[in-house]
Amino acid sequence: MNSPFLLPSSVCHVHGTEPGPRVVVFGGTHGDETMGVQVVHNILEALGSPEGAPTGQITSTFVKGDLFLGIGNPEAVALGKRSVSGIRDLNRCFHETFFSSPEALRIPDQQRAAELKDLLASADYFFDLHSVTAKETIPFVGLTTFSPRHAEVCRSIPVHHILDVQAILGQDVGLAIAELTQTPTTCSWVNRHGGVGLAYEMGYQEDAASVPSATAVIVNLLVKVGVVHGRLREILKVDREQIDSVPDQRVYRLVHCERNRFHGFHYAHPRYTQSFASVKAGELIGQYEDGEKVCATHEGLLAFPAGEQTLTNNQSLFYLAVPVS
Ligand SMILES: [Zn+2]
Repeated sequence: MNSPFLLPSSVCHVHGTEPGPRVVVFGGTHGDETMGVQVVHNILEALGSPEGAPTGQITSTFVKGDLFLGIGNPEAVALGKRSVSGIRDLNRCFHETFFSSPEALRIPDQQRAAELKDLLASADYFFDLHSVTAKETIPFVGLTTFSPRHAEVCRSIPVHHILDVQAILGQDVGLAIAELTQTPTTCSWVNRHGGVGLAYEMGYQEDAASVPSATAVIVNLLVKVGVVHGRLREILKVDREQIDSVPDQRVYRLVHCERNRFHGFHYAHPRYTQSFASVKAGELIGQYEDGEKVCATHEGLLAFPAGEQTLTNNQSLFYLAVPVS
């Protein structure tokens, strides 16, 4: 199928030789999370893109439909930073308010979002690869709505935790709460245009060992949604056992964002920088240099904790999640 828009830069359009869905996979939506870029590179190489380069158009007999593999924010990846501007990262740019604001569109990350928005809006499925700054972490799925179609896709992903971030995740970018019916994330944009979008958080962002396992997860997902043939698994040596043994999954939703006051915060215990540490309401999580205590607002799990090394620039210290009953 021809694209109704220009192919964005740093995205490769892999045309299939049979009809199928339209699927987009990105790594590097956050420029300091380079393991997802490796996954995109590995899959593109297997599909025949020269040196796995995420650019141009190729045709592959492994593909059914249209598969787009690319780098979310290539300029930020080149800088090794979460965003180009430091004002707003790409995963906070996908909101109508920003696309219609000339002032917002002066931000380089917002310009990249504008380049990508039509591609993402046209996707049947979108998988965004992320990794986290905290060392002690396990892979999980983040999404902004948990529809039956999302649930179906999640059954093929070997994670225990599925985190519905709702609109809580967007509360750090200055949008009015009334405008935050959904987050301004890439996945939310896909969901709002009729596709199924989710973020696969593949683990600690310096852990190269996460690349082969995340490659396997994504290839199995691509087979599951019908955009690639199962024989791609053989080329990439992907074990299909992985999806036949998906562990017990539980869905959680974010209920609170603890904003960072940037005043020398320290965790009360290292366990709080592990993902999904369980906490009781009122439990002391840490303290600022001026003595202000930060306690858990709910009984539940800590999500997206800022690692010790990112406490000086993360807008949030952590989020709190509760199980969906
Ligand atoms: Zn990320």
